[in-house]
Amino acid sequence: MVLPVLTAYEKEHLAERQALPEEYLSLSDEEMDRRIAAAKAALGRRLLILGHHYQRDEVIKFADYTGDSFKLARQVVKHPEADFIVFCGVHFMAESADVLSADHQQVILPDLAAGCSMSDMAAPDQLELCWADLEQMGVIRNPAARGSKASVVPVTYINSAASIKAFCGEQGGVVCTSSNAAAAMRWAWERGERILFLPDQHLGRNTAYKMGVPLDEMVVWDPNEIWGGVEPDAAERARLILWKGHCSVHARFTVRQIETIRAQHPDVRVIVHPEVPWEVAQAADDFGSTEYILRRVRESPVGSVWAVGTEIHLVNRLARELQPDRTVLSLDQFGCLCSTMFRVSPNHLLWTLEGLVDGDVRNRIVVPDDRKHWTRVALDRMLLIT
Ligand code: SF4
Repeated sequence: MVLPVLTAYEKEHLAERQALPEEYLSLSDEEMDRRIAAAKAALGRRLLILGHHYQRDEVIKFADYTGDSFKLARQVVKHPEADFIVFCGVHFMAESADVLSADHQQVILPDLAAGCSMSDMAAPDQLELCWADLEQMGVIRNPAARGSKASVVPVTYINSAASIKAFCGEQGGVVCTSSNAAAAMRWAWERGERILFLPDQHLGRNTAYKMGVPLDEMVVWDPNEIWGGVEPDAAERARLILWKGHCSVHARFTVRQIETIRAQHPDVRVIVHPEVPWEVAQAADDFGSTEYILRRVRESPVGSVWAVGTEIHLVNRLARELQPDRTVLSLDQFGCLCSTMFRVSPNHLLWTLEGLVDGDVRNRIVVPDDRKHWTRVALDRMLLIT
């Protein structure tokens, strides 16, 4: 038997994860749908269900709003009437929702095991060590100065733990999403000489390259190497220091897949998410956030053929929505599935909703007070940058 490898997130949270009661495991799809709809109706406007584009169909059909992390974060702020925000996504999204929510609101993640492997690639102690190393290397010269341009501005992708966001907020930095990464980088370069971008090196590299930053003005910081494996001179010359992290789903897309699909469909347009490796983004016709991908494909001329390089649930839904006018294919013929998103099942959704109806708040996500302030600062800056 092959034992599953647990991520750092899972090791931390599985202990507090309540097992789904037996009775929720044996329900028919019809029974589950009927009871989810009933619980939703009973909670009315007190409930807001948010669904990320990568969620499975059986769950996302109950979402009041669907979107990427940026769009869903905005919905949290727009709905103060909801007492309960059930976030059908992964842990870092629910954390951000908790930080952005009002005091009377409670955020629930249907399955606490829904973490994110990319988010796990940047631990707070690693970031603190990186910052201390950059100071020691002379790259961060006056970390306390706030009046003049900073030497390094940290920018973290929203796919990171609240502690990482809090660090960035406190150090004058910001959170970004794949929708506003370029705007966040512009914001940061207006305030600093260089950016420390984490945890996704690919989003950082693809975005900056598109903005005109050459690859030789970027270095990769490996948190498992002494001084990140970067020479002080190279860090000093860099405009962008990229954390060595990635998305295990999007890193699976390859140039070979693009070549294969072009051979099979000569008219195909290839569009990928910016979490793919740089050479894949370069080989594609276009890249952008999930919202951007949806817009580009929906607005394309009738008869278009697209190969989409992102999570399979989004691709399949888009294909169904646009058939027969447009053809939408998965760039990976086997389909790249985000297994942590997939942990949020209709069974878990029903269990948490029926708990709310009974006054039992299950799987609540609470960001500790000592992290909340600076996380909020970094997220508020993000919401102002479009
Ligand atoms: S698709 Fe990648 S970055 Fe997004 S939640 Fe899944 S593992 Fe994390």
